Amino acid sequence: MNALRNYIKSLFLLELFKGMSVTGRYLFRRKFTVQYPEEKAPVSPRFRGLHAQRRYPNGEERCIACKLCEATCPALAITIEAAPREDGQRRTTRYDIDLFKCIYCGFCEESCPVDAIVETRIYEYHFENREDAVMTKDKLLAVGDKYEAQIAADRAAQAPYR
Ligand code: SF4
Ligand code: SF4
Repeated sequence: MNALRNYIKSLFLLELFKGMSVTGRYLFRRKFTVQYPEEKAPVSPRFRGLHAQRRYPNGEERCIACKLCEATCPALAITIEAAPREDGQRRTTRYDIDLFKCIYCGFCEESCPVDAIVETRIYEYHFENREDAVMTKDKLLAVGDKYEAQIAADRAAQAPYR
């Protein structure tokens, strides 16, 4: 009986028409495909993209070189060296994040007591050399300076959940 049913199905191309009907049903529906990069999908304020180092409004860097982020990083991607400044405050002399090692877990920003290291919603970046993948302190601060308004707004949006 099954063999006869399968024979009739294949003779009249029933499976093919069944598939075509599904295609036809979706042909004129609203499309969900995003035409990237002309169109962009919404990004959550909690998105964990490129890292940045933040400053206070007076221009002072937030990082106090406590090394909590370095200690908590599961990928050992952060390298910090620190020394006292002329005014006696402890600051980093080196702060590197190797983005090839980073797994974008967000532990560094969660561990930071002064909201200095953050992950931004920036996901459009690339590297052409191995060295470019190391985000140095200067590069991190530059990202922070450029996107501070967005970073501050995103941190404020996350505040109720932290
Ligand atoms: S996001 Fe995670 S893996 Fe990347 S630097 Fe921060 S703690 Fe390390
Ligand atoms: S970024 Fe934050 S957690 Fe890391 S060393 Fe600086 S103050 Fe400490």
